[in-house]
Amino acid sequence: MSTSSKYPAIFGTNGIRGVPNSDLTTEFSLEIGKATGSFFKSGNIAMARDTRDTGNMIFNAVSAGIMSTGCCVTDLGVLPTPALQYYCKSKEIPGVVITASHNPPRFNGIKCIANDGTELKREHEEEIEKIYYEKAFVSAGWDKAGSLRYDNNAVDLYLNAIISRVDAEKIRSRNYRVLVDSGNGASYFTTPSLLRRLGCSVVSLNAFPDGMFTSRTSEPRPENLKDLITLMKNGEFNLGIAHDGDADRAVFIDEKGNFIDGDMTLSLVVKSVVKKGDSVVTPISSSDAITEICGAASANLIRTKVGAPIVSRAMIENNARIGGEENGGIIYGEHQYCRDGAMTVALILNLMARDGHKISELISTLPQYFIHKTSVERKKDWKELEAKILAYSESVNVDRADGLKILFEDGWVLLRPSGTEPIIRVYGESRDQKRARELAMEYEALILGLQESPSAL
Ligand code: MG
Repeated sequence: MSTSSKYPAIFGTNGIRGVPNSDLTTEFSLEIGKATGSFFKSGNIAMARDTRDTGNMIFNAVSAGIMSTGCCVTDLGVLPTPALQYYCKSKEIPGVVITASHNPPRFNGIKCIANDGTELKREHEEEIEKIYYEKAFVSAGWDKAGSLRYDNNAVDLYLNAIISRVDAEKIRSRNYRVLVDSGNGASYFTTPSLLRRLGCSVVSLNAFPDGMFTSRTSEPRPENLKDLITLMKNGEFNLGIAHDGDADRAVFIDEKGNFIDGDMTLSLVVKSVVKKGDSVVTPISSSDAITEICGAASANLIRTKVGAPIVSRAMIENNARIGGEENGGIIYGEHQYCRDGAMTVALILNLMARDGHKISELISTLPQYFIHKTSVERKKDWKELEAKILAYSESVNVDRADGLKILFEDGWVLLRPSGTEPIIRVYGESRDQKRARELAMEYEALILGLQESPSAL
């Protein structure tokens, strides 16, 4: 992870993650707070948390550390991560959010936000890590310690900004019926509230904040959204929505109860907002449908490595209008340079309202591609496997920007070791559903074979 630091990385691709009272202890959290306050040297740091039961404990440890350095903390309460990010951007102050996103309830995490609302740059995280390892904390005198204040205005600030980015009157005129599944997470208040302000009649599912995520697993995959999908099949709603735990992502169910793949949502949003000459940013893992859409619109498509902060940074550097990932994380540059679930909801409603089309009709206008996703347990060193896979794929083109993307005439396969789990992700894409599956299965079997019998080649 770290390239220049002499210390082991503490921050991963999405901040610090761990199990409270195990590796993410209060003592450690306090020192991360001290290091963060020492780094920012700012008068005020905004803080928020998701609905996890350990949120208050970690929040209090981190905020105590921050205040000991002389910085003040503004407590925004339970909020989606993008709402905290928008607050930081509009007040031009840094922030810290206590969240483990979609991870199971035993986890929690600490994520630092820069004063433009984006995830902190890696080199700044390294500076915080250096302060932590060297215990070079700023210690304010007793009369200079920071104080804790509260601000209840973050939700209004956030929702008003989102509403200002869409044709709210048009959406209101459609009187949509919307079903939203917050999955006990941080969007339990914000997304239903946004929808009501957009004139929708809203039915909320799992909208009680519950840090144990008792209603469903926090990752918004179709297998975890059975209740939402079943209710959508009744045909009474125009749109079904589900978020992950910290609501930086949104996924959708059409009016017939079909789950809409994240790639399709991203393609649809890109298609609806992109204009000639615009820049669009997405990782190499998302669909060729986006390539096709950008080509048709004469827009400039920039492919990056996988990871939302990488996409955000590339968007800032290229002044991109829109970007995002295939997992339902969409970044709308005009609003803010981070994934934002509620903003995505408003963009989809805006698109539906524009010409009065149903969401399924809009999806049917997209170039049709199929992605088959699977994963294999990683038992061997990736570099070793990579060399063997390359030898196997000798006669075809390979993109090595992130993992191995093997390009065929009728599709591609992406093989990537996960940064957080001991698995290798396998994606196969083709215009033909059977071929997409075949490609993914072929390489899944190859990796399994190479790990069981390394002399297979
Ligand atoms: Mg998330």
